[in-house]
This record gives sequence, C-alpha cells and structure tokens, in this order.
Amino acid sequence: MEELKKSIGLRCTFCHSVLFALPHEKYAPLHGSLIVCANCGRENDVTSLIFVVKAKAMNIAEDYADKLIDKFQKDLKKAFKGSKHLKFK
Ligand SMILES: [Zn+2]
Repeated sequence: MEELKKSIGLRCTFCHSVLFALPHEKYAPLHGSLIVCANCGRENDVTSLIFVVKAKAMNIAEDYADKLIDKFQKDLKKAFKGSKHLKFK
C-alpha cells in the first residue's frame, strides 16, 4: 500500500508542499484547526485537507479510507516530531 500512501499525502492547498509548521511537538491535526505551511507560510484548514484526502481515498477504496486518515494523522504527527520546521505563530 506504499503507492497508495504516496498518492494521497496531505499537501498545502496553496503551494502543494508537504511540509507543515506545527505549533508544538504533540500537536495533532484536528478537524477545525489550522496548520501553517512550512514552505509558503499560509494557513491550511485541516478539515479541508482531510476532506481532500478522504475524497481521494474514497475513489481508491472506500472501506480503506478511515484507516488511511487515521494513519495520515499519526504519520503527520510523527513526521513533525523533532522537525526543523517547527515554529510559533
Ligand atoms: Zn504552502
């Protein structure tokens, strides 16, 4: 499923970067919150990002979507642990 993962990663709505600046290490992307793109500095609405991911996932495998979203949130969290892109806004 590695290919599937690659094709559905969270991306900045504005510049399509996959790097996000999260407010603190334990931050988890939640519905209704905003995450700042580490590349262009603009705020992305987490709900929209997850919606996009979910829509893409639905196209590929509907019953796999929820698992993917859960994994993306964990991956994102993991990815930013110790990230050099952490910054406060
Ligand atoms: Zn961006």
